[in-house]
Parts: sequence; C-alpha cells; structure tokens
Amino acid sequence: MARLLGPKCKRCRREKEKLFLKGERCYTPKCAMVKRNYLPGTHGQKGKGMLTEYNLHLREKQKAKKIYGILEKQFKKYFQIAAKKIGETGEVLVKLLESRLDNVIFRLGFASSRSQARLLVSHNHIKVNGKQVNIPSYQVKVGDIIEIKESSKKNKYFQGIKAKGKAEDVPKWLKLNTKTLKGEVVSLPTSADLDKKINTQLIVEYYSR
Ligand code: SF4
Repeated sequence: MARLLGPKCKRCRREKEKLFLKGERCYTPKCAMVKRNYLPGTHGQKGKGMLTEYNLHLREKQKAKKIYGILEKQFKKYFQIAAKKIGETGEVLVKLLESRLDNVIFRLGFASSRSQARLLVSHNHIKVNGKQVNIPSYQVKVGDIIEIKESSKKNKYFQGIKAKGKAEDVPKWLKLNTKTLKGEVVSLPTSADLDKKINTQLIVEYYSR
C-alpha cells in the first residue's frame, strides 16, 4: 500500500501553512511552523517571490494531496472520477476525499491525524456495517456505521479516546456515540464542511490545463 513518506513538517513548511499532519504536536510551540516558518532547504530563508499562475494551481493541488496523505497517481484518479460525475467537479472531489475511511476515522476523533487513522484501519481495528475493513481508501456511504472492533475497545488507546470523546467536535455530516465508539455517516460532506480551506477551483484548473 503506497503512501506519502518523508518528514511531515517539511510538507507544511513547503506549503507555508500548518496542515496539521502530526496530531497534538501541531498545537504546541514545538510545531515547525512556529519554530522555522520559512521554506525548507538551504535557501529557504530567502523565500520565493510572486508565484506564477501555474505554481498557484500546483501548490493548491500539492496541499490537498499532503492533507489527505495521498500520492499523485491516486489523487489524479480521484480527480478523473470526480470529473466524470454529475455536479461541480471540485465539490465531488472533496466528497471523495472526505469519504475515505481513514479521513472519517480522523473526523470522528478516533485518531489525532489522518496518518494515525490510516494505521488504525490497516491494523484491523475498524468495522464498517459490522464487517472488518482494513482499506484506508474505502469510500463510506450515507448510512454507514463505523465502529471500533469489540476486542480493540479494551485497548488502552481506545479507552483514552472514549474518555476524551466529544460528540460535538464531530462535523455535522457525521454522528458519534461516545459511549459505544460508534459513528454514523448522516450525509455526504461538502466543501463548506472542511476545517481547512482547499481552493478546489485551483485544483480543477490545474488538471484542466
Ligand atoms: Fe505541520 Fe504539525 Fe509539523 Fe506543525 S507540527 S509543521 S502543523 S505537521
């Protein structure tokens, strides 16, 4: 299973904004965007001048890929699927990305980052509609019930999640029962539901060159 590798903080520094890829550390003064808020590399501190239009589109696409931890090939595939579906391509793209099982696990608060959520899925801790699913890119649908496997609930990590879990922190397209650690997809997300703004129009324009 291919995934994005390399230092996460460098990805934020490259995009010149916090992408919250490391969970709790991102909210502390240890965040690299607090300590070294400039581009990575030897000449990073000199910064770069105005971005060309092409670069503007490219950077937005790269940012979305980094947020969701997706490689180029897979991201392009999502775009191609979105372009073929009825509706505004950018909006459909967001729906596809947000509906990934690893993202839903993150949104439900079962993991502090998408990369951690990905591990929880691939390590067989998650069930969808009563069946174990270990594919992070699995697309959830409206009505799907996502839960922690019964045997995993005893695990200290999930006990901690249970204690911290706040249903009101979950986006409105999801519903969480903090006692049973069960989540439900109540609707599909739209770009208005994103906490971090991605300009999908720039991504559409990038692929439409
Ligand atoms: Fe990005 Fe988090 Fe690293 Fe800060 S700590 S640079 S937000 S991944």
